[in-house]
Amino acid sequence: MPEQSSPLDLAEGDPFGPHNLPYGVFSTPGHPEDRRVGVRVGAHVLDAGAAAHALGSPYARLLAQPSLMPLLAAGRTAWRDVRRALTAWVTVPSHRPDLEPLLYPLDSVTLHLPYEVADYVDFYASEHHATNVGRIFRPDGAALTPNWKHLPIGYHGRAGTVVVSGTDVVRPSGQRKAPADPAPVFGPSVKLDIEAEVGFVVGVPSEQGVPVALGDFREHVFGLSLLNDWSARDIQAWEYVPLGPFLGKSFATSVSAWVTPLEALDAARTAPPVRDAELLPYLEDADDEEPGGFDIRISVEINGQTVSEPPFASMYWTAAQQLAQMTVNGASLRTGDLYGSGTVSGAEPGQRGSLLELTWNGRDPLDLAEGKRTFLEDGDTVTLTAWAPGPHGTRVGLGEVTGRITASP
Ligand code: CA
Repeated sequence: MPEQSSPLDLAEGDPFGPHNLPYGVFSTPGHPEDRRVGVRVGAHVLDAGAAAHALGSPYARLLAQPSLMPLLAAGRTAWRDVRRALTAWVTVPSHRPDLEPLLYPLDSVTLHLPYEVADYVDFYASEHHATNVGRIFRPDGAALTPNWKHLPIGYHGRAGTVVVSGTDVVRPSGQRKAPADPAPVFGPSVKLDIEAEVGFVVGVPSEQGVPVALGDFREHVFGLSLLNDWSARDIQAWEYVPLGPFLGKSFATSVSAWVTPLEALDAARTAPPVRDAELLPYLEDADDEEPGGFDIRISVEINGQTVSEPPFASMYWTAAQQLAQMTVNGASLRTGDLYGSGTVSGAEPGQRGSLLELTWNGRDPLDLAEGKRTFLEDGDTVTLTAWAPGPHGTRVGLGEVTGRITASP
């Protein structure tokens, strides 16, 4: 009889190999209330709390939980130690008899939002995206607003409507009024869009009144995941002056079920683009030990067809600068805070992270197998995937974020 292969025998170069180990929360069929912290290994999820118990690990208390919150709050030393332990568990052959019964095929489990989103902030950090949007909406003005290169611009979003990948997104209704329309009308959005982004997850809180310095980014931020900031452009265009995005954004934000720890992305750190305006000291990162950017290659698929490949390495503002910006006034961080990078768009047309830009506000429709697309139609499924360079020529896969549009009720 041939030896049965183990789920831990991964193909060489598997982007979800032991160099990655993202965290999520899962349940098994028939037990939807029994949520458990899981770690993705190849095409399986390891019940991390049960593994910790089976192996007599001191991290069972952190891992045998229904959410990632205790692990997020535990801090950088614990994050490193737990990751080191997990790496040993899945690579040392003598652990296999204990671990194999605790591995579930990914397609056999339900994945849940892995942490309770505390506050949600979204930025606007791609110069290419901001320039494209400026050209589309303010063709007669400067593409970038005067503040853009002096501070990472952001707004507070709605934490309660952040949903896990796989959740359907209901087309929002609202007011819209094109410039030539005599009066606003109400109805389902006719310009429903995506924004391909990376979301950063805060683990360790900060004290109110005390800004978080650039250099303390890794003491507070646990990891990142792909994020789709669904956007109703027609609702947004009518409502956003003068206070910024509101109902055009707050109906849903999708995040991946998997949070990739920053430690898995050490080989993906890269210098951000050269800044061409002098930065105030609290944002100045020229002398930082670790380059502030991440080389993450994103793909945007609509109904299985790749429409764009946005490069995260091109982002002008880094996640550390965004963290410094959102706390410089003394606003505190809480465990579970989530902040989005802003739409990721590169310099090339095929690297744009929104349909607004890809179709130039509907002027240049995309040719999909199902026909022309300007904005999303009911039944469309949008999936973001990504990878980043890992150690020794490997790739670190980011968990996908996907969502299907359903009709307005
Ligand atoms: Ca956004």
